[in-house]
Amino acid sequence: MTEHHDNKARGAGGRRRSTLQRKLVLWTVALVSLPTFFCAAWLTVMTRTALERNQGQAVSVVAQTAAVALAGRVSEPLGPEGRSVIEGLALDKRLSFLLVVDAEFKPIHLRVIDDHSWGVFAQWQKQAGRAAMGALQRPIVLGREQNLTAWRAPIWEPPLPDRGSLGAGERKLMGFVILAMHDPTAAATLRQLQAGALTAACVACLLSIPLVVIAVRRWTAPLRMLLAATQRLAQGQTPAPIAGAPDDDLGMLADSFNDMTAKLQDFRAQLQEANASLEDKVQQRTAELERAKRELESEISEKNEFLRAVSHDLGAPLRNIGGMAAMLLAKYKAVLADDALNKLERIGANVKAQTDLINDLLDLSRIRTRPGKRLPVDLHILVQELIETLAFDLDRTSITMEIRGRLPVIHADRNRLRQVFQNLLDNAIKYMLDARERRIIVACREEEETWLLSVSDTGRGIAEADLPQIFHLYRRATHSGSHQVPGRGVGLASVKTIVETYGGRIWVESRLGQGSTFHFTLDKRMVSPVPPVAVPLAP
Ligand code: ADP
Repeated sequence: MTEHHDNKARGAGGRRRSTLQRKLVLWTVALVSLPTFFCAAWLTVMTRTALERNQGQAVSVVAQTAAVALAGRVSEPLGPEGRSVIEGLALDKRLSFLLVVDAEFKPIHLRVIDDHSWGVFAQWQKQAGRAAMGALQRPIVLGREQNLTAWRAPIWEPPLPDRGSLGAGERKLMGFVILAMHDPTAAATLRQLQAGALTAACVACLLSIPLVVIAVRRWTAPLRMLLAATQRLAQGQTPAPIAGAPDDDLGMLADSFNDMTAKLQDFRAQLQEANASLEDKVQQRTAELERAKRELESEISEKNEFLRAVSHDLGAPLRNIGGMAAMLLAKYKAVLADDALNKLERIGANVKAQTDLINDLLDLSRIRTRPGKRLPVDLHILVQELIETLAFDLDRTSITMEIRGRLPVIHADRNRLRQVFQNLLDNAIKYMLDARERRIIVACREEEETWLLSVSDTGRGIAEADLPQIFHLYRRATHSGSHQVPGRGVGLASVKTIVETYGGRIWVESRLGQGSTFHFTLDKRMVSPVPPVAVPLAP
């Protein structure tokens, strides 16, 4: 059970520890990675926006420069001056196409350098339609896709020297220049930047993993030490104090644990001391008790011996006195006065009572000192025989008696066992008195080390106050209303003594007015059982 508990604690502890470490590592790596990747993405977006803005500005400048250069040179077809302007513009490697249209958007000249860009622009035109061309007077962005930015700028009639400077509303619109620029280096730069940011984020995260693992292992080292120490404590061992804990909360925890372990050790030492002194006391007390028991046993045996000797020595003179009284009564009955005769009779009666008493005492003493011959006794047959001898009494008093189950065959002194059952059955009949239900049952149950036998009756029963008394010599149940029944209070004392010689004990369960059950055990080792003999059960 303890081992199981230990294993469980170890398993659970190990699992918990690895889970805690894994959790800390995962969370820390996640907390490092998320902002890193977010920063990389943010940097990329911002760079792209800045690049596009720059590109847009460049296109707008070129478009407006072209529009100014073409002012006054827009004709169908484009004249040499206009063409030379366009050729000059086409020298810029970033130019994708250039389209010159008149004020009605009728194409005058188209120069395509990058077919793809032109295709993209044509697509925009188709989708947007002419209405989407916006205010004609101002340069506008026509579209922007990936790194392609298209601008349209109006071409105005150049101001004539005699007309002075005219406002935009007064000048004549000659057409538009539409051009798009494509900057592949910007796209490449952006891609490089994206790849660089992503790589930097990944490297940062990968580098953070071992660092985080090392840091977590260092942070949790005191916890691991605490865990190992608590497990040692749980196994009843004394863990070494936790040293080298950092000067933080975990350090405080380790200090508290060290204090606690020290106190626990003190308590253990005190407990061991107390245990040792208790053990000493118990041993002393046991020795004293054993000595007292031996003294008591020797006193009891001395007393019994004295009682036996006195009883024996008193027996002969008493028998003599009784014999002489009987002889005087028989010989001088005719000549003696009534008073003398009466006194002789009283002498005889008293001598008989004292002789009975002495016989009882001697009998008890013999039970204790003379174990008797142990032969196989079939208790079933023995009780059946007793029932037969009691048949007349049972019939007269209308009592039924039965044996429940098969009583065992044991090795014992037959007369002693007969005495046990005789006394118990006699009492059961004697104290049935005026009970309405009149039944006696003898039963037996085999237990691991003993035979448990019982005699139950439905008679008068015994008052609770009398129960502790009735197994003592010359004690009778004075509270149970049965003392008018003749008796000397010797039977149960004899039964108890016999049962004890066979390593058993006897006790009674009884309720006044409801009957009694006397239980007694016989130690199997003392009555060394022999295989049961097949005996017919009582009818
Ligand atoms: P005795 O019967 O001669 O008085 P015992 O030693 O046999 O002496 O019994 C002691 C007392 O126990 C009896 O006086 C009686 O009051 C009580 N007793 C014994 N057996 C029974 C019984 N079966 N039912 C009721 N009382 C009993």
